[in-house]
Amino acid sequence: MNDCDETNGFLEPSLVETTLEEHTLPGISEGEIIVIRSTRRKKNISAYRQGGRIVVSIPARMSKADERAMVPEMVAKIRAQEAAATMSEENLSRRVGELLSELAPEITARPMSVNWRAMRERWGSCTGIDRSIRISDRLKGAPEYVLDYVLFHEAIHLQFFDHGPEFKALLARFPEEEIAEAYLSGYEAAENALAAPEALKKLLNKGA
Ligand SMILES: [Zn+2]
Repeated sequence: MNDCDETNGFLEPSLVETTLEEHTLPGISEGEIIVIRSTRRKKNISAYRQGGRIVVSIPARMSKADERAMVPEMVAKIRAQEAAATMSEENLSRRVGELLSELAPEITARPMSVNWRAMRERWGSCTGIDRSIRISDRLKGAPEYVLDYVLFHEAIHLQFFDHGPEFKALLARFPEEEIAEAYLSGYEAAENALAAPEALKKLLNKGA
């Protein structure tokens, strides 16, 4: 039997569909929620974070009506768990200040805001004009030194907009630069391997 459960990491196209209509949940970006109908699953529903997405696995036979009721509930549950384990935006801001004072005291600028943002292509971004920093919510479960490293990177951009020699010299002061880079590369490699890009691309373009 050609049965494919999500546990093996593959998103088999025939079992995968985006079922959430765009207006079902506020604050959800396109492609953020993936619903997998699993023929192996009899009644349990599970949800987990994979990269920037929330994957909800439901039994193949579940009705559309039940799905519409259950999926938002599961998404809310994941969000609540993450919120409980996640650094608040206020603390992110404070942390940027600490990192700059400690590692780059010559930079006196401080961000106006530091926000979590659903970003799948980048780890962080900094806008000089309004001194705002955004951090990818893929880092919500990352080790402290990795989050610190990305925060520090974006904080240096408050002063240096490109990745020139001055930028690099400052960034090199971060004590765990190499291991943080290794974590981020490993994360991206795993995400690419698990995401089955062709299947996913097809899926995300379906409604377009
Ligand atoms: Zn940068």
